[in-house]
Amino acid sequence: MKVKTMYNPMIPHPTTLDNYSNVISHNASVYSIHRVEEAQQLFQSAQREGRRVVFRGGGNSLHDQAQGREWVAQLRLPKVVYPLKPHSFRATTTATWPDVWRCSQPLDMVPGVVPNTEWATLGGTLSANCLCQFSPILGKESNGVESFVLLTPDGEKQEVLRPGPGTSAEQDALFYGVVGGLGSLGLVTEVQHRLLSFPFDGPANVQTTVNHAPSTEHLIRQLIDAHHANHKEHRDKREPWFGYKTLPKPSPLGVLHNDGYGCLIEKEYVPSTSKRSPFIFHTPKTIQNIMGNMVVMAPGVGNLFWKKLHNDWKRRTQPYIDRIPDTLFSMEGNRTARQLLGRVGLETICPQQTFVLPIDHKENPYRASLQFMDSVFEALHNTRFSPSLIDMLTLPKDSIALSATRDMDGLAITLSFQEFGKAKLPALIKMLQELSQDCAAVGGRVHLVKNVFVEPDVLEEMYIEGLQEWKQLKDQLDPNRILVSQLFQRMFSSYVQKNQYAEY
Ligand SMILES: Cc1cc2nc3c(=O)[nH]c(=O)nc-3n(C[C@H](O)[C@H](O)[C@H](O)COP(=O)(O)OP(=O)(O)OC[C@H]3O[C@@H](n4cnc5c(N)ncnc54)[C@H](O)[C@@H]3O)c2cc1C
Repeated sequence: MKVKTMYNPMIPHPTTLDNYSNVISHNASVYSIHRVEEAQQLFQSAQREGRRVVFRGGGNSLHDQAQGREWVAQLRLPKVVYPLKPHSFRATTTATWPDVWRCSQPLDMVPGVVPNTEWATLGGTLSANCLCQFSPILGKESNGVESFVLLTPDGEKQEVLRPGPGTSAEQDALFYGVVGGLGSLGLVTEVQHRLLSFPFDGPANVQTTVNHAPSTEHLIRQLIDAHHANHKEHRDKREPWFGYKTLPKPSPLGVLHNDGYGCLIEKEYVPSTSKRSPFIFHTPKTIQNIMGNMVVMAPGVGNLFWKKLHNDWKRRTQPYIDRIPDTLFSMEGNRTARQLLGRVGLETICPQQTFVLPIDHKENPYRASLQFMDSVFEALHNTRFSPSLIDMLTLPKDSIALSATRDMDGLAITLSFQEFGKAKLPALIKMLQELSQDCAAVGGRVHLVKNVFVEPDVLEEMYIEGLQEWKQLKDQLDPNRILVSQLFQRMFSSYVQKNQYAEY
């Protein structure tokens, strides 16, 4: 006789989970969560059995933000996205940013801050407080969040509103702790965001201009000067609200070559009447882009590839014009390239670490970044590592507890590496740890959303004030420490010790 077995979400599946950069994997028991009630049930079991739970949305974290050694809640809640008048949308947090784009496109609007990947969920990016190529103008994702629904470890649900004149100090602290809190305070089940309208009628494309920068100093000065000009009026406010209605100015981003020269890339939305002229970075579904992503991994070839691109850009006088989704989700070419290489047995790793250097408006705003870049070039020279990309963008300050730009305008410098196999990983980790110390020495912070190769005491010092705010919330909402990811265990172990005496 055939026995009919019912699907039971509370039966875990032992699984090995890794991350996008492929630097470490962990075994865990994975629970598929299809309904909020199942998450509540999982919290109850974790409280009872003293287990630790980590949420996993799209699993696109570059390091161990969505990994744990005990229970992993793989979020499979139904996806829903709908527009709200006049310029917002509401969604469940398993929806992805292409889902949002499909909802906003017919309204001639666009989400403001969107990650470069199609697969990140709204819950994953809110928890990371995502940044993007338009962040020099708009700030990070938190600037567009109007509210969200939070399920706390005691099983209670509450709507958390964006801080404003009518909200309480406790509510505000919760907003600042959960956004960018990497799933450490509760499960975000729904979110409401502001959409961005264009400064013209009708649909839009993205226009990109590329200008040569003869030196690192030249590029850093251009980026920081643009930041000053764009945010003059916000500088003295604790947390500026950028209006988020239109994107009136081009957003600048810097790309640097290992030899010290680079280019300033400026992007803006323009009416879609302009004729398309694709920028290689914005063509993730083309053979050229995918091949380019493969070629930069070959030792020595990457440098030549970048030299050729820079030379082409120097000669170019016309801007590039691309479709919005190709620009927003431009890193998908890298994913396809690595998947294809994986299929023929070529394992790749792609560690990326972002260092945020303070922009000091009172003294010399360039000093910290220039000093840090000297350390970077020296370290690259000594170790012979060659990044596949060095990119830079400025970020306005915010009030998010675990943000690298908490109370500090910053220049985010990302070093990306792509290597075949893991043989060089230990040396790369050592170099990134040493650079983190150099970053700390000039008042900077390592961003928690990409790879986090830092000595724990150095990271704690970088985040000490925000960590105190976050710990107050953690003690209040999760005294038994059931929500602990591998990243928090590795970096903030004294803050996430199981509290034997807490009662529930
Ligand atoms: C190709 C690629 C391009 C990228 N581009 C960018 C970029 O341009 N800008 C940028 O900022 N980042 C970028 N990232 C990083 C990515 O946006 C973040 O890692 C993001 O957190 C991934 O979302 P996810 O749904 O995959 O989350 P996961 O990796 O599954 O989880 C991320 C974190 O969020 C928590 N979490 C997930 N869902 C919830 C929820 N509903 N409630 C509470 N906590 C939750 C997890 O516990 C974990 O701590 C990129 C990553 C890749 C792979």
